Amino acid sequence: MAKKQFKAESKRLLDLMINSIYTHKEIFLREIISNASDAIDKLAYLSLTDDKVGLSRDDFRIRVTLDKDARTVTVSDNGIGMDRESMEENLGVIAHSGSLKFKSEMEASEDVDIIGQFGVGFYSAFMVSDKVTVVSRAYGAEQAYKWESSGTDGYTVTEADKPDVGTDVVMHIKPDSDGEEYSQFLETWKIRELIKKYSDYVRFPIRMDIEHTEYVETGEEDEHGHKKTEPVTHTEEETVNSMVPIWQRGKADATDEKCIEFYKDRFHDPDDPVAVIRVNAEGLTSYRALLFIPAKAPYDFYSRDYKPGLSLYSSGVMIMESCPDLLPECFRFVRGVVDSPDLSLNISREILQHDRQLKVIAGNLENKVKAELLKLMTSDPEKYDTFWAAFGRQIKYGIVGEYGMKKELLKDLLKFYSSNEEKLTSLNDYVSRMPEGQKYIYYAAADSLRTAAGLPQNEQVRAKGYEILYLVEDIDEFAVQMLYSYEEKELRSVSGADLGLETEEEKKEQQETAESSKDLLDFLRDTLKDDVVDVRLSASLVSSAVCMSYEGEITLEMERYFRQMPGEAGERIKARRVLELNPSHPVFASLTSAFASDKDRAAKIARVLCAQAKLLAGLPVEDLSSYSDAVCSLI
Ligand code: ADP
Repeated sequence: MAKKQFKAESKRLLDLMINSIYTHKEIFLREIISNASDAIDKLAYLSLTDDKVGLSRDDFRIRVTLDKDARTVTVSDNGIGMDRESMEENLGVIAHSGSLKFKSEMEASEDVDIIGQFGVGFYSAFMVSDKVTVVSRAYGAEQAYKWESSGTDGYTVTEADKPDVGTDVVMHIKPDSDGEEYSQFLETWKIRELIKKYSDYVRFPIRMDIEHTEYVETGEEDEHGHKKTEPVTHTEEETVNSMVPIWQRGKADATDEKCIEFYKDRFHDPDDPVAVIRVNAEGLTSYRALLFIPAKAPYDFYSRDYKPGLSLYSSGVMIMESCPDLLPECFRFVRGVVDSPDLSLNISREILQHDRQLKVIAGNLENKVKAELLKLMTSDPEKYDTFWAAFGRQIKYGIVGEYGMKKELLKDLLKFYSSNEEKLTSLNDYVSRMPEGQKYIYYAAADSLRTAAGLPQNEQVRAKGYEILYLVEDIDEFAVQMLYSYEEKELRSVSGADLGLETEEEKKEQQETAESSKDLLDFLRDTLKDDVVDVRLSASLVSSAVCMSYEGEITLEMERYFRQMPGEAGERIKARRVLELNPSHPVFASLTSAFASDKDRAAKIARVLCAQAKLLAGLPVEDLSSYSDAVCSLI
């Protein structure tokens, strides 16, 4: 019979699996049992609404059988089973959504810990087996099929006999070699230990034949007059796992360590989460929840492929694998399970969306997640910053999205770099450091920390001893504008027109200088009318000669953001740029005297200054050659 070949990427994975030096080969059992449990889940769910299944919840079970002579470990379930097509589809390729990412990562490095990273499921059987046979009969089918493979050389599917619906996975255990003791997986004690360790909370009984030895009196006595005994063994089928899901247990039993183990396994994440949240709510709506905040964003998190949501259970029975209605969009990174006895089991997706209980739960969870993040922010800022690096962008999107509906919820979670320290700071910390007399929260927006920190406008603000937040992500300024203020302190860009820094006297003085330079300013406005909407004397410059600011709603950063977008928006959306000159800078004096004696020269100086202001603001200088000519002729 001709062998079918594995799909290319599956073949590579198999290769790796077979030759893996992975130290935790033992996880194969967990993976196979977890598949069995999923298959039972599916049939159990069907049986709720379909009498034809003919099984009730108590009938479902997983059996693990060992055969030392044949060197096989068999995991049998009476779940939904597979027909020929699903065998080809599910066992002939890697069904994992992670497989693509896996591929690109493999190209970079051949020895990444792929198993730990993706929980590659069924394939892990090949870490300990030199042949795997799967015999399965699908629910509703008469014919059973046998899938068999010895690894990378392909697989066969043939018809088989199997009286009941369900699946047997038979793993032919490899011979011992090079210090690898595969034979231990044929020992009852070892398998029992592995089930306890990895699969204890599986919600269906995992049954095994356990040998019991009793010492029975023979009726004879030995030379000391003691009654003689002899060992008698008998086998009994026993349930090995406790079946209580981890979220139904108390904290003493379901330790953080165990919860984290559960998280990594269940959500295929190699990293510990930054927070574990347990909720045990009793009252009008009772439920338990076990939530996790991951440390890193999954590779597809900011794409459409990412599936947000929590798993929804009713008294330990899964109703929905990922229910998106349990979390607000801004917390879509949260993983976990919710279990409520108050939810009806055969509830449809549509009804669920409008379910009042579900809304109550979602509202509570939203607050819990926020509270946990705030707690983390103060108790372990470093961990918080790990979280922030992964999901800060999501929080900012959350503030901007839904017309700012979630900004109250999220504003305390924001963190930015600042002129005060090298670390990230929260708005709350910023405000608590504000000296008396500081009216606004100041920020400098640019495309990098260096440009933000180097903006000429910062000088005056810093001279007053005020702290400046550095906004360097494209979404930042949108978020800050949506917030508008924090603790009644308005947020103001240092590149904006009014920084509220001058005293009445200073303002008066400025007005006077502006009046005396009116002709010059008019000349500059005219000369630079293609570049800026206005030219003004600056109040915020100390040592720099010029800077670029803006007036109106659209900031320089936003203009840059839109310029990167494809299509028309980039062309249309422009900031109203304002060139500011420092009247106490020597350059201003040169400009004034050139204006009096040589208008051509004055115009050149103006263009050079304007280009400089653009560069300092991180804006492009469009006509570089005429800029360069002007500089040369001035020199
Ligand atoms: P995953 O379980 O993460 O989807 P696996 O490689 O472990 O990936 O399994 C691939 C698929 O094979 C499963 O999604 C399921 O459809 C099918 N499968 C595996 N084991 C069984 C089983 N015991 N009964 C029914 N279907 C199974």
